Amino acid sequence: MIYFDNAASTAVHPEVVKEMMPYFDTEYGNPSSIHQFGRKAKNAIQKARKQVAALVGAEPDEILFTSGGTESNNTILCGIPTDGLNHIITSTVEHEAVLEPCRHLEKNGVKVTYLSVDEHGMVNPNDIINSINPQTVIVSVMLANNEVGTIQPIKEISKICNQYQIPLHTDAVQAVGKVPINVKELGIHALSISSHKINGPKGVGALFIKKGLTISPEILGGGQENGMRSGTENVASIVGFGKACEIAQERLNENISHFQTLHSSILSKIVKEIPHVKLNGHPEKRIFNNIHLTFLGVNGEDLIIKLDEHGIAASTGSACSVHTQKASHVLKAMGFNHEQISGSLRMSFGYMNTLDEVEQAVEVLKKVVSELRSVSPYKTKYNF
Ligand SMILES: *Cc1c(COP(=O)(O)O)cnc(C)c1O
Repeated sequence: MIYFDNAASTAVHPEVVKEMMPYFDTEYGNPSSIHQFGRKAKNAIQKARKQVAALVGAEPDEILFTSGGTESNNTILCGIPTDGLNHIITSTVEHEAVLEPCRHLEKNGVKVTYLSVDEHGMVNPNDIINSINPQTVIVSVMLANNEVGTIQPIKEISKICNQYQIPLHTDAVQAVGKVPINVKELGIHALSISSHKINGPKGVGALFIKKGLTISPEILGGGQENGMRSGTENVASIVGFGKACEIAQERLNENISHFQTLHSSILSKIVKEIPHVKLNGHPEKRIFNNIHLTFLGVNGEDLIIKLDEHGIAASTGSACSVHTQKASHVLKAMGFNHEQISGSLRMSFGYMNTLDEVEQAVEVLKKVVSELRSVSPYKTKYNF
């Protein structure tokens, strides 16, 4: 099997599993308890908080543990104090975990501006200047897109937000571990991270909230997480997430160059071996563990099924949109027509993928694309 769907989820790193194990059977205390069991659990959480903070250049007390990227996005968008103001700026290419909370807020009278993007899926920072008004409470633009891998000009956007004194949130779920991130250098106020996209366990993540920015708590109860998210902490998962962040930081440069090697290898092989292919997303301003392509005249879903039959796991784009069976809102926003959207394929690499796997995958792709094109309704259009 070849797993090229690391943008959907990743294998938990063996060192992470090892680090988590004691918190199931021996260190099982409640972090709020005063005895040794409790103190050990509490210390483990504090260690993890430092590990997460270090990966993004934050202070440990600026890290709020959540159940993942979705909850982090919901927490900031729904928890930001409005003081009677009612306008949010976001983009048309955000993950559903940003778009759905925005749509929910719209039902409650909040106005949302959805910024358009260019053909690479990139937001124009000048559009933010034009969208800001005295009612604007927050700007939320993702760092790297989960479908096409484009990196947004967050630094430019943050300059504008800071000038107008409007908090900036970024969904960095896909960017963490793929590019260096420093919240201070970027000048951002909130940032979402998910553990399972960086070789940590599922169901845990974090929201960085800059000191001084107060948001209302989402879950009330025993006052855990500084009163921001009550409920007994998911100690083992938090420990694993912390370890995953430590590993991601230690091996950041190594992983980036590995991803670049895989990316350029698969791209050059595909371009050489398969005709009528289009590379999507920004060619340079991107995360390199993601390659997104359109095979004209092919249905992407048929392609995924064929690849799966040959032991290759890939995706049409967003695992989440599979439930809704909708055409990708990201590709639509980039101006793709129906045929271009239909023929799209995302392959996303992890640290374990190899050049050998790339070679095998291209051989299979060449074969299945040609099979699907031989029965394609576009057969004569392209003279396949
Ligand atoms: C996966 C993903 C999320 C959701 O994270 P979960 O931890 O699965 O809730 C949010 N945003 C982006 C960009 C993602 O890729």
